[in-house]
Amino acid sequence: MTTVHCPTCGTPVEWTDAARYRPFCSRRCKLIDLGEWLDERHRIPGEPADETTLDSEWREEDDPR
Ligand SMILES: [Zn+2]
Repeated sequence: MTTVHCPTCGTPVEWTDAARYRPFCSRRCKLIDLGEWLDERHRIPGEPADETTLDSEWREEDDPR
């Protein structure tokens, strides 16, 4: 049996098919780690998806209607 440690909280996680969030111990820890990763990504300019979102938001605010 292989055991890994959750990258977020360090809890030992058994590496099995039942551990669906491995290497994280839970969905919460996975989302926390993913959220931090996305947060880092959002600070990098030039991400096509982010530019599209910002552009559409600005257009709505600048709309003279
Ligand atoms: Zn955890």
